[in-house]
Amino acid sequence: MTFIDQWLRSDIRNINAYHVPSAKNMLKMDAMESPFGVPEELKDEFLEYISQSEVNRYPDASAEELQATLRGLMEIPEDCELLLGNGSDELIQLLSLACSSGDLIMSFEPSFVMYELASKFAKLTYHGVPLNDNFDIDLNTALLAIETKKPKLIFIAYPNNPTGNSFDYEAIIEIIKSTDALVVLDEAYYAYSERSFLTEIVNFSNLVVLRTISKIGFAGLRLGLLVGSQSTIEQLNKLRLPYNINTLTQASGNFLLKDRKRISNNAKIIMSERERLYNELSLIPELTVYPSQTNFLLIEDENAKLLFESLKDSGVLVKVFAIGSQLENFIRISVGEAKENNILLGFIRDYYDRS
Ligand code: PMP
Repeated sequence: MTFIDQWLRSDIRNINAYHVPSAKNMLKMDAMESPFGVPEELKDEFLEYISQSEVNRYPDASAEELQATLRGLMEIPEDCELLLGNGSDELIQLLSLACSSGDLIMSFEPSFVMYELASKFAKLTYHGVPLNDNFDIDLNTALLAIETKKPKLIFIAYPNNPTGNSFDYEAIIEIIKSTDALVVLDEAYYAYSERSFLTEIVNFSNLVVLRTISKIGFAGLRLGLLVGSQSTIEQLNKLRLPYNINTLTQASGNFLLKDRKRISNNAKIIMSERERLYNELSLIPELTVYPSQTNFLLIEDENAKLLFESLKDSGVLVKVFAIGSQLENFIRISVGEAKENNILLGFIRDYYDRS
C-alpha cells in the first residue's frame, strides 16, 4: 500500500477520476467547445490589451469590470447579483460546500456528471431522479423524490447535458415551488436554447441560474457565473476563494466578451449547423438522432462503441459513454464549423456504407 492509499479518505480513493481523453492532432468534437477562436484581425489588438495586465499584482478581487461586461453580454436583470467562478464547475463545487454534512443533492439521470462528483467531494449524498423515455422530467417522480429525499440542493441542467433537450419549463416551475431546496438552473448552453430562467429569479427566492462562457468560444478562459438575488449571492460569496478569477481571464473577458455581435452571430452559425447535421444524420437508417437545444447532438446506434472507434481511427474525437451506463449505445458530438461537420459526416457515411 502506498502512503497516499492509507492516508486518503477511502471514499475519495474509490472515486473514478474525471477522465479527459487526449485529443492531440485530432478533430475535437467531444467537449462542446466552440470552433471559433479569437478572430485573426483582432489578435494584435487583443495581445496589446492583455499585455497591459499587471501580473505581479493580485487580480481585482471582485472583478468589477468583468461583472459589468458579463451583465451586458447576458442581459442579466438589474436586481440580480453575480458570483464568478473559475469555470462553472468551481461554482458547482462551491454550492456543495455550502451544504451541511448529511444533506442530499438531487439531480436527474442522465445529466452532467459533475453534480454527483461534487457531492461526493463534499461528503454529501446524491440522488439522481431518472428521466423518462424522452429524456424529460417525469413531474410525479420528481415531486415524490423531493418529498421523500428532502434535498438541500437540486441541479437542473437546462438544456440538459448529455441529452441536449430542454426539460418542460412548467414542470421545473412546479419543482421550484414544491421545495425549500436551493434550485440551480444550469444554463451552460443558454446561447443555443430558446428559453431561460433568468427572469424567474425575482419570483422565487430559492432559484439561482448558473452560466458559463465555455460553450460560446471561451472554454480556455475558465469563467462561470452564478446569478441570484442580492441576499443569496452575498452569503454564497463568502465561500469563494479570494482572487479566483485571474488577471488574464479578467482582461481577456473584458476585451473579447464585448464583441457581442460576433458572439451571437457565431451561436447562430452553430445552431444552423446543428440543424443541418441533425437532418443529414437522420437520413442514416441505423442512427437515431435526438433533437437538441445545445451545441451538440446525441445519437444512438446499437454499436456506438464501434462507431466511436472508427471515428477515432479517422482522427475525430467524439464522446462515448461507459459500458454498462444508460447511454452505452450513444455518442455525443459537438457541432463544429461547416468544414469540420462535413469531415465528420463523410466519415460517418463511409462507416455505414462499409458495414
Ligand atoms: N454545466 C454543464 C451542463 C456542462 O455541460 C458543463 C461542461 N461540460 C459545465 C457546467 C461546466 O462548464 P465550465 O466549468 O467549463 O464552465
